[in-house]
Amino acid sequence: MTGFELNGRKLVCGVMGDPVEHSVSPAMHNAAFRKLGLNYVYLPFRVSRDRLASAVEGIRALHMAGMNITIPHKVSIIPLLDEVDPLAQRIGAVNVVHNKDGRLTGGNTDAEGFLRLLKEQGIETHSLHAVVLGAGGASRAVCFALASLGSDITILNRTLQKARDCAEDMAKYTGRTFAALELNPDNLTKSLARADLLVNATSLGMAPHAGESPVNGKLLERRHIVVDIVYNPVVTRLLRDAEKAGARIIGGLNMLAWQGALSFEIWTGCRAPVDVMRRAAVQAMKRYAK
Ligand code: NAP
Repeated sequence: MTGFELNGRKLVCGVMGDPVEHSVSPAMHNAAFRKLGLNYVYLPFRVSRDRLASAVEGIRALHMAGMNITIPHKVSIIPLLDEVDPLAQRIGAVNVVHNKDGRLTGGNTDAEGFLRLLKEQGIETHSLHAVVLGAGGASRAVCFALASLGSDITILNRTLQKARDCAEDMAKYTGRTFAALELNPDNLTKSLARADLLVNATSLGMAPHAGESPVNGKLLERRHIVVDIVYNPVVTRLLRDAEKAGARIIGGLNMLAWQGALSFEIWTGCRAPVDVMRRAAVQAMKRYAK
């Protein structure tokens, strides 16, 4: 059976978010289904906030196999599911849903995706001082992952209260201490002076605002490792500035491929062809950039 024959037994997966028209996930997952000859298809679904409950009911009604969840629904979907696994509960955000006989379980593959990204780059974080920018769903996944590796972490966010809430929750679940500060030039200067690892988990710098960066490039130094989990563009303004400063840079596209691969494995039970997914994501990004 070819992966893309449209037939009545096709199992449907997809991504729900708003917007989704530039998502590279359909290209990534369909390439993987094709590679393994699986009878699945993956589609983008634009779902506005006020229709999320109907859309989630649609996963059940239409017997879809699973769904990735993206901005702005990663938190608001939680009460609409039958079950949320312990990791996603602790992170407080769901990016993958599995439908098993009409019962929907939410999970989170962003944290493990981030860990795989560090691992494939050979980064040992045990003794690192990490600065994480942002306190949304992605930041919470990154903080969780870094804490599990023993890093000490300072969270900086535009809205201070969200940084504090994130730090408090993460401390409760990981048993480590986190500092929480407002994202401003003074706090960035102080935090980066003692940091080895900087992770941007805000949406700043994401297309169509690709010229923006959360950090003044002058604060970046050769000894910093700079990870930007924003993957569109592939090389963000922050990464360009960091490269100029001689820092080691890591983009978010491989984390995207890993979180996608882990979702794929939840739905299909098959080992994901990560390299195929990565290449398909890069090709799709190039097409969108034209
Ligand atoms: P989110 O929950 O909406 O959080 C957005 C974060 O960005 C918040 O901390 C927000 O601060 C901050 N922010 C937004 N605009 C800002 C601005 N103008 N100045 C300063 N801070 C600003 O989104 P998310 O799900 O965490 O996603 C964040 C980014 O990570 C997105 O670009 C997403 O595409 C990317 N991501 C990548 C991967 C991957 O696999 N590579 C996975 C997940 C997410 P406030 O709290 O003050 O609003």
